[in-house]
Amino acid sequence: MNRRTFIKTTSLAGVAVTATNAAHLTSHIAHRELQLSPATGGQATNKSPLVINTWDYKQIVTETAYQTMSNGGSVLDAVEKAVMIPEADPEITSVGRGGFPDKDGKVTLDASIMDGNGNCGSVVFLEHILYPVSVARLVMEKTQHVYLAGEGALQFALQNGFAKENLLTEKAKKEYEKWLLESNDESIKKRKENHDTIGLIAMDANGNMAGACSSSGMAWKIRGRVGDSPIIGAGLYVDNEVGAATATGIGEAVIKVCGSFLIVELMRQGKSPQDACQLALERILHKQPKYKVENNFLVGFCAFNKDGEHGGFCYKKGFEYSVYKEGKFEVVKSKYLKD
Ligand code: ASP
Repeated sequence: MNRRTFIKTTSLAGVAVTATNAAHLTSHIAHRELQLSPATGGQATNKSPLVINTWDYKQIVTETAYQTMSNGGSVLDAVEKAVMIPEADPEITSVGRGGFPDKDGKVTLDASIMDGNGNCGSVVFLEHILYPVSVARLVMEKTQHVYLAGEGALQFALQNGFAKENLLTEKAKKEYEKWLLESNDESIKKRKENHDTIGLIAMDANGNMAGACSSSGMAWKIRGRVGDSPIIGAGLYVDNEVGAATATGIGEAVIKVCGSFLIVELMRQGKSPQDACQLALERILHKQPKYKVENNFLVGFCAFNKDGEHGGFCYKKGFEYSVYKEGKFEVVKSKYLKD
């Protein structure tokens, strides 16, 4: 139930993207840095910035968000830059470049971004674009819309200076070809390694919050399938008055209960982040008991509140989330319902 072994064993240098990717990433980040927005809103708390994200995408991801805020960048810049790292990493087969394709062999991407004042943007079923999180941010900042999908999202990205590229790596192609040979209805369910979203939420020292979520979705999914990651309130929700939450796992299950929105609302009612995550997971199982008998059912949530408390909860053992707070990085093993 853990994240893929190869991701676990990837070195920090490996996760920090290849030389070519690094150059592209650096230039894109530099481009974004020119537009650093000042931190505004929220409540003045003078606390340490806080960053948490699903899984252990290695310290560099969580730290990038933390350092961006520590260096005076806005919390939106922080979450965007951090999520761009796994999006560019060809070794990660569940996000961005290198993501496992759909049933037709095409890599399709979902991403969202949201701030604590209700501003949000998403792209769904986007192809050929390396940084879907950045396109989601442009949807939020440059249009009056929240979601752009498929061909329209691609056109929007191209019009805004993104380049079209092939995101299907040789490694993902080989896995796809292997899957084609053994393909049957059960094979999507059987693969443990067919999902893992980066959902990253952060709060700056003044209490401004933001989050971003990015995923290539379930491997071998039906063409056109959209998961929870780009759905505001499902894979991600942020509210400066309360806290923030994000999700990973079977997106359909998360969508059915508006998982991240539910967690934020439970925290608004006074639940701790930990309890709110558990209650959201229990809500899924209450409404859809079929998931209890599905071998590979997995949903994991993590959340924090405006006081800087954080928590996570998962159906089965194995989910972990990364935390960067007061200058320290930590990977927290999430509580779970069953072994
Ligand atoms: N939640 C993602 C989706 O369903 C995948 C994952 O997190 O594993 O698209």
